[in-house]
Amino acid sequence: MARTALITGSSGGIGADIALKLSQSGIKVFLTGRNESRLIEQASKCSAEGYLAGDLSNDEFLELLFKSAKEKLGQVDILINNAGAYVWSPVEKTDKNKIDEMFRLNLQVPYKLCRLAVVDMKYNKWGRIVNIGSISGTVGEANASLYSASKAGLIGLTKSLALELAEHNITVNLVNPGWVKTEMTEPIFSDGILDESEQLDMIPQRRWIEPYEVSALVNYLASEDARGITGQSVNLCAGLSLG
Ligand code: NAD
Repeated sequence: MARTALITGSSGGIGADIALKLSQSGIKVFLTGRNESRLIEQASKCSAEGYLAGDLSNDEFLELLFKSAKEKLGQVDILINNAGAYVWSPVEKTDKNKIDEMFRLNLQVPYKLCRLAVVDMKYNKWGRIVNIGSISGTVGEANASLYSASKAGLIGLTKSLALELAEHNITVNLVNPGWVKTEMTEPIFSDGILDESEQLDMIPQRRWIEPYEVSALVNYLASEDARGITGQSVNLCAGLSLG
């Protein structure tokens, strides 16, 4: 029987690529993101079983999303916590509202979805959870402490759930990409917040990570073959984390 997956943030960027890759592997997918028209387009490319647009920060939407995914997929075997946001701001200038907002989307939402998803995974004695962190969460990033702290929290979540769920044949892993050119990162360079060539010079391989590299790794971690890999935090960063 085909496995099933719920992928957050799959209307664009890395999440859209993950959804496509999983569907090409024969996995039935359910998509969610904020932009409905792009979600419809992406759902059609992936022959998705369903999709739902909305804001994950809203608890009612989150519960409705999980219920809808379960109805359309029958069960959720694979959860990909990909949706996230970035904020560049020196700590003293950070908008107070951003503090709750960032921790909610980047850390609490993955936790809340795991909480809902593990019930059936435990019952079925099979599950895969892949969280998308960031290299900023493993090595730190000046002027992005909120982003870094919220992504670093995923390391603890991943390890703890991996320990807790190991005996149920559920694996939990974290993928930490380096810079990937998406809508999240474009404004950082186009608005002159960071200098693109300076950033590139800091990357040992002198290149950006491509979305397909992230989706290929996620696809592997979601597969049967990866059953022995759990609780791991994998840096996919062209060497950026090496110092
Ligand atoms: P993106 O902005 O292109 O896509 C983000 C996706 O998340 C979109 O589908 C968007 O609709 C969804 N999303 C954002 N806020 C949401 C909300 N409140 N409710 C529901 N959906 C919401 O970004 P991306 O670069 O593809 O990032 C995907 C993940 O990869 C994020 O977790 C990000 O932190 C992580 N990441 C990205 C990079 C990079 O350089 N692009 C590097 C490291 C980690």
